[in-house]
Amino acid sequence: MTEPAVATSIATQLIHHPYQPPAGFAAPQPGVFKASTVIFPNVAAMRARNWKEKAGYTYGLHGTPTTFTLEERIATLEGGLHTVLVPSGLAAIALTDIALLRAGDEVLIPDNAYNPNKELARHELAGWGITHRFYDPMDANALAASVTPQTKLVWIEPPGSVTMEFPDVPNLVRAARSKGALVALDNTWGAGLAFNPFKLEGEGDDALGVDVSAHALTKYPSGGGDVLMGSATTRDAALHLKLNAAHMRMGWGVGANDAEVVLRALPSLPLRYDAADRAGRALAQWWAQRPEVEQVLHPALAGSPGHEHWQTLCTKAAGLFSIVFDARYSARQVDAFVDALKLFRIGFSWAGPVSLVVPYDLSMMRKQPTWRGALVRFSLGLEAIDDLIADSEQALAALGR
Ligand SMILES: *Cc1c(COP(=O)(O)O)cnc(C)c1O
Repeated sequence: MTEPAVATSIATQLIHHPYQPPAGFAAPQPGVFKASTVIFPNVAAMRARNWKEKAGYTYGLHGTPTTFTLEERIATLEGGLHTVLVPSGLAAIALTDIALLRAGDEVLIPDNAYNPNKELARHELAGWGITHRFYDPMDANALAASVTPQTKLVWIEPPGSVTMEFPDVPNLVRAARSKGALVALDNTWGAGLAFNPFKLEGEGDDALGVDVSAHALTKYPSGGGDVLMGSATTRDAALHLKLNAAHMRMGWGVGANDAEVVLRALPSLPLRYDAADRAGRALAQWWAQRPEVEQVLHPALAGSPGHEHWQTLCTKAAGLFSIVFDARYSARQVDAFVDALKLFRIGFSWAGPVSLVVPYDLSMMRKQPTWRGALVRFSLGLEAIDDLIADSEQALAALGR
């Protein structure tokens, strides 16, 4: 389908897109093309192949009509121009690090980042002579004061993993840029819908935005809990070439069937995101009234850390929040509560149809744990919200046991 001039909202653009079906087959749904080998018509064409800019097809690992279509869709979703697909969200983080960092460089990661991002820095990056520091994402001035000319990359993650603090994203970007560092943002929570990572402030060429947006397509874009995939998106052609080259040297291709599943799920992404948002806020507000709970950590709720920054940047939120139980409940009692939940299942990841829950021990995760009580993270699936509230209420009986 060709892109109509009236496709101004993301919801419409995810349905009316520039994909061209094979001649004579006018179906709007993209085809699934599979190949390792791509045949060249002659030796001259083989020698002239341009895999670096993906101008044409050269090898299955470097892209197929199916993966090129999904790359275009994700770039559109996130307000970028170029996207590279990788086999997981974590691989998108790793690809960004590998493409942009060299021995002697430093990367700064928020203290509340998705933990495998920090683990990669502690282990593989450290082994390659790339140093790291973890910074307080709620203090942009401290970040500005601590970046050095060796700081080549700064990660931003709105909101923080598990503890859900929403940072002042524009001021973190300015702080990182003050010494010339590139900025990569983990956009999994926002999913391209809560805010535009390339247009945080201002319009047009002067808009303030990040350099790279990494996204775990595993979460909302897939929406099914059945695919692992990630993407790295940029508006800068030179940066994209670096990401592309590292992608090909690492050999991180994605399968056509997985790309198809994400393509099929994208048109319903805005509906699913909004449904999860509504359910997340309803359940978070229910918990905020409960005497067992010390704090509800949901960026759209007043009183949650960084709520004012969320309000400046977003109107939507993912269906994801955490609660901190009153310190009078032991970790064992909170585990019993989690075990007593019936609809909320215990498991990592989020944004699939099944609501999930995970208890976390903050003392293992943060330099300075902020809360004393046990923390439980909820991820809203697509069940009826009244059932999820009833499930939460019935499981509370297990707290007192
Ligand atoms: C899940 C997640 C990732 C990693 O995605 P995978 O596809 O599971 O590797 C990265 N960042 C954030 C914020 C996530 O929630």
